[in-house]
Amino acid sequence: MAALAMLRTLRNRSFTSFSPLRLPIRSALSRFISTLVVAEHDGGSIKPSSLSAVEAAAAISRENSISVLLGGSGPDIGKAALQAASSHPLISQVLVADADIFLHPLAETWAELVHLVQQKGGYSHIITASNSFGKNILPRAAALLDVSPVTDITEISEPHLFVRPIYAGNALCTVRYVGKDPCMMTIRSPSFPMHSESAEPKSEAAPISQVDLSTFNEEFFGKSRWLKLASQDTERPDLGNARVVVTGGRGLKSAENFKLLEKLAEKLGAAVGATRAAVDAGFVPNDLQVGQTGKIVAPELYMAFGVSGAIQHLAGMRDSKVIVAINKDADAPIFQVADYGLVADLFDVIPELIEKLPEKK
Ligand SMILES: Cc1cc2nc3c(=O)[nH]c(=O)nc-3n(C[C@H](O)[C@H](O)[C@H](O)COP(=O)(O)OP(=O)(O)OC[C@H]3O[C@@H](n4cnc5c(N)ncnc54)[C@H](O)[C@@H]3O)c2cc1C
Repeated sequence: MAALAMLRTLRNRSFTSFSPLRLPIRSALSRFISTLVVAEHDGGSIKPSSLSAVEAAAAISRENSISVLLGGSGPDIGKAALQAASSHPLISQVLVADADIFLHPLAETWAELVHLVQQKGGYSHIITASNSFGKNILPRAAALLDVSPVTDITEISEPHLFVRPIYAGNALCTVRYVGKDPCMMTIRSPSFPMHSESAEPKSEAAPISQVDLSTFNEEFFGKSRWLKLASQDTERPDLGNARVVVTGGRGLKSAENFKLLEKLAEKLGAAVGATRAAVDAGFVPNDLQVGQTGKIVAPELYMAFGVSGAIQHLAGMRDSKVIVAINKDADAPIFQVADYGLVADLFDVIPELIEKLPEKK
């Protein structure tokens, strides 16, 4: 509530509330496209993956009326709402669920929030990014709304026609959604980069409104509790959004040797990734895993050291703009997707790169 008060003071803008008339009107205009983007923020900034979800919403239709849903409390939610309000020309409103229970992405509470907002707003589409936040919340919210979600969308051809990868990214499947509204979807963020014209702040920001939580189903409180966030204490960029990723495979041979890769990452301002074999061997924690059962990345530069190039790994990185592979086996499958390949011992290459690269400013 305090954050909303801050928002009112910060900007003198209209605070709209849900109109009870909106739902029947929307039902009558069945071709009216309105999308709810379930967004994440961090320290008052909308996460890049959520901005990609807004781009995906814009790809559904240029006539789309986009609402962005944010949750949390404190000053950060106010800052994030202000950013969202002017982040894309098609955003028509920002909805703020200002309560401590939305500070953490617990599936039970967030799914009920999406359910509540959908009941009042009657959206034709609901979108979120295909990351741990979206993958956690959307299926449960879809079950509450009794629809089947379409996941991992990489292309939107028509409002209900999508492309998504199957068989670990080895085939692309075109899917037509024929269920009732809302059409709920998760999108792969690298497939919907922010357009430069969208990045320019709007001259007129969208209104920010508070979600009326008076009818929030309290049955969902206490079913799960947030205990703690265990994450790497690192200043390196987030693996999912980094411009450069350096990945190590089983060829690194030990956790100790991964420190070499971390030094290289520091020089390049890169995130560190790993194969599942490296994670399973205990060299690095599993939040660094890239691939079918790990993170999907598409950086500008992806450097793979001692990675064989199994299809499950390629599924997570093959959309990278430039792929560089260093492997001592000239027949390693990674060379089939690499733009630049070096048949060499990584224990010679990494120290040489560290020595020759300039210090990052
Ligand atoms: C259902 C399922 C899901 C999976 N999901 C994933 C996933 O999400 N991500 C993932 O990565 N894997 C995943 N896997 C595992 C995947 O099949 C491979 O086993 C794994 O990717 C191999 O990892 P790797 O390339 O590090 O190891 P390896 O295949 O053992 O390759 C090591 C490479 O290092 C090279 N090498 C060794 N020493 C050196 C050196 N000194 N210098 C240079 N090169 C060297 C070798 O030539 C070799 O090519 C999954 C598997 C299954 C069945």
